[in-house]
Amino acid sequence: MLTWKDVINFSVNGNPTPDRRVEKTEDEWKAQLTPEQFRITRQKGTERAHSGALCSIYDEGKYNCVCCTTALFDSTIKFSSGTGWPSFTQPIKENAIKYQRDTSYGMVRVEVMCNTCDAHLGHIFPDGPEPSGLRYCINSESMILDKEMA
Ligand SMILES: [Zn+2]
Repeated sequence: MLTWKDVINFSVNGNPTPDRRVEKTEDEWKAQLTPEQFRITRQKGTERAHSGALCSIYDEGKYNCVCCTTALFDSTIKFSSGTGWPSFTQPIKENAIKYQRDTSYGMVRVEVMCNTCDAHLGHIFPDGPEPSGLRYCINSESMILDKEMA
């Protein structure tokens, strides 16, 4: 199980190697995604709180990256944080997510990205539920819920 210490270690010393890489040009992403998906995942945008379609959904399934379809989270690690964004306590797999120090807007935060295609997903905070204590705060627009649990 990942803890905040692991997250900081990844963001400072480098992330785990992904199973595969997907790289596309900005124009290719633009053609594939909706304008809102593009703004959030490729330009590090944030959707308005409580606006996301996946915010209050707890159906069983996997949450896949909207850009490259890699599985990022699943419904067993989703929890209701009350923040207005889908929240998770762990990644589906240790190397699914990439962590990067983010000092934008005068804050020191840890940005969460898809480790396969570098899509911006959201941020992670050390105030989640036990036992991991992690809260992945993720934009709905960056994920697709795949209801078939493989
Ligand atoms: Zn991706």
